[in-house]
Amino acid sequence: MSNDDDDVHRPGEIVPASGIYECDCGRHHEYSTDVKGHRFPPLHDPCTGSGWRLKTPSHPNP
Ligand SMILES: [Zn+2]
Repeated sequence: MSNDDDDVHRPGEIVPASGIYECDCGRHHEYSTDVKGHRFPPLHDPCTGSGWRLKTPSHPNP
């Protein structure tokens, strides 16, 4: 089995890149930000995941 949690960001960590993040509990809780440098929010209440994973990066600065 390959459970690669390569880029999971814990709540409270600095957002490294803007875009849409999805938690890793598998229930499609999403968090979108267009401000890099913010901190990740706590996971939603019924969420059993441990962090946020980048799902869709937003456009980088050209
Ligand atoms: Zn979740």
